[in-house]
Amino acid sequence: MELPLIPGRECGPCVECCRFIPLDLPELSKPTGRLCAYCVDGAGCSVHAVRPQTCRTWFCVWRVVELDEAWRPDRSGIIVRPDGLLTGEMTLYVVRRTDFLRAAILFDTVAQWLSEGLKLAISVPGPVGMLPVRAEVTDYLLPAVAAGDDVMFQRLVEACLDSLDAHDFEPDGIEERYAVV
Ligand code: SF4
Ligand code: SF4
Repeated sequence: MELPLIPGRECGPCVECCRFIPLDLPELSKPTGRLCAYCVDGAGCSVHAVRPQTCRTWFCVWRVVELDEAWRPDRSGIIVRPDGLLTGEMTLYVVRRTDFLRAAILFDTVAQWLSEGLKLAISVPGPVGMLPVRAEVTDYLLPAVAAGDDVMFQRLVEACLDSLDAHDFEPDGIEERYAVV
């Protein structure tokens, strides 16, 4: 899916998609949670000019929607996945728990999305090589959002993350292959 990017916005030192999004391509496959071997942590892609097409077209929502700088995935610990953008479902892929989970801007943004009729899901990665798990949480979070109760919202999000972390994760079955030339 190719989405128009916000002009002037760059990934900077963020490399979270190169770490947490699995790839299974002829020229590059790497399991979930392992940083791509072509990636320089904190700097970016070392094969930028010849990177696979998937890498050229996949961007997190922070690159395509006017979200605050605090939402940048390496700062927030959340990759907002682009998959549901066209169908009205936002997925918060929480790759790391940070203080951002208690930030007013998270609560306010989610409240805005739900008021616009968007649906919300939360996802977490498992150990390296395991598929992420995911839960649809719109109805679960709606009472806290409707009441404007950010403390309840934070408690529910933490409980959801605890529950997802306790899942039996399934292997992604991806074997590493690096053949970009
Ligand atoms: S997760 Fe988003 S901001 Fe971070 S490197 Fe990927 S596209 Fe860029
Ligand atoms: S080839 Fe480059 S852009 Fe693609 S996952 Fe690896 S480091 Fe990231």
